[in-house]
Amino acid sequence: MEGMDGMDTRHETEVVVIGAGQAGLSSAYHLRRSGFASWSGYVVLDAADAPGGAWTHRPPTLTMDKVHGIFDLPGARFGPDGIDGSLPAAQVVPEYFAEYERRLELPVHRPVKVLSVRPAPSDRLLVSTTVGRWAARAVVNATGTWTRPYWPYYPGAEAFRGRQLHSAGYRGPAEFVGRHVVVVGGGTSAIQVLSEAADVAASTLWVTRRPPEFHDHEFTPDVGRAAVARVEERVRAGLPPQSVVGATGLGYTPVVLDALAKGALHRLPMFDRLTADGVVWNDGRSERADVIVWATGFRAALEHLAPLGLRERGGGIRMDGTRVVAEPRLHLVGYGPSASTVGANRAGRSAVREIRRLLDGSRASSAA
Ligand SMILES: Cc1cc2nc3c(=O)[nH]c(=O)nc-3n(C[C@H](O)[C@H](O)[C@H](O)COP(=O)(O)OP(=O)(O)OC[C@H]3O[C@@H](n4cnc5c(N)ncnc54)[C@H](O)[C@@H]3O)c2cc1C
Repeated sequence: MEGMDGMDTRHETEVVVIGAGQAGLSSAYHLRRSGFASWSGYVVLDAADAPGGAWTHRPPTLTMDKVHGIFDLPGARFGPDGIDGSLPAAQVVPEYFAEYERRLELPVHRPVKVLSVRPAPSDRLLVSTTVGRWAARAVVNATGTWTRPYWPYYPGAEAFRGRQLHSAGYRGPAEFVGRHVVVVGGGTSAIQVLSEAADVAASTLWVTRRPPEFHDHEFTPDVGRAAVARVEERVRAGLPPQSVVGATGLGYTPVVLDALAKGALHRLPMFDRLTADGVVWNDGRSERADVIVWATGFRAALEHLAPLGLRERGGGIRMDGTRVVAEPRLHLVGYGPSASTVGANRAGRSAVREIRRLLDGSRASSAA
């Protein structure tokens, strides 16, 4: 154990990557490729017990034929021998991640939860975790959103006698048999729950704040780029990022077509309050509900960065690409415009390129 700057610091490394989902593993790949040595040069700290990132938590009913396309981790094709569409994504993708970590001998340390990141004296950032501290010259944050489900409050929530759950806790439609189910939210998770609930529930009802925007154009690279550019503009301005579906609209994927065919996509505006046994609108409409599923999305898991004081007045973190403007030693990968599997891959590469330049530059200036 070494002391550094008089602080009780257990480990030193050049770069700490926080999180081992798609974004963290992509960053690790590029760190390794650009010559950082395992452990002394970079380390990946992951709070989970096993590989797979958010994919380990997907409901068993999310089979491979329903996912929108998993993008390969850099340097390793996913399912080169074909993918069995009937297998759960929660099994197949974590196996792929585990094999990737093993084959590349990535220095992933788990379960290690990062509790805080704060500036240390000298040029280091101090990463405190459940198992010790790391002093690093740069940090790649790749903690995703899974650990922070967003659950809005509506009056009467405490009076409701039925069951409420967030889509993060959805494990399949079995518990909806014969029940009246209300699904809240305008994204793909809401539609997946609706299409599955429609097979077994007594009734389903879809409510969203804004009318959902369906489009029938193909999801081409241009459409993707335009959506990413809109989210990028927001984070450059220090605003909270918008969800990717918010930026792209909803395509007619097999899951959407299935839900439409079952008549499960008649949408109502958001209700105004909950009662003991249902939901009510201010215009006098009311509907019975036994179950309310809040498919209301997630927020970025960044609580551990609070000591760095990065939030702008607009509520977001001002970014330039993956770099945090107020703390150039910190990159957010899988955040905002790179919060998709393909985006996370690209962002990992560009974050590492910048970190390499930053560290080489500071070495050159201290040698001069
Ligand atoms: C239901 C659902 C279906 C989806 N389907 C698709 C799809 O079909 N195609 C697609 O492209 N995208 C899909 N997405 C989005 C996709 O999951 C994400 O874009 C991507 O997987 C996120 O990767 P990530 O590495 O940023 O985060 P994650 O996979 O969430 O990984 C983050 C890792 O960080 C760890 N972590 C978090 N906090 C800490 C901490 N404080 N200390 C240490 N470790 C920490 C977590 O344990 C986790 O291992 C879907 C999302 C959902 C919710």
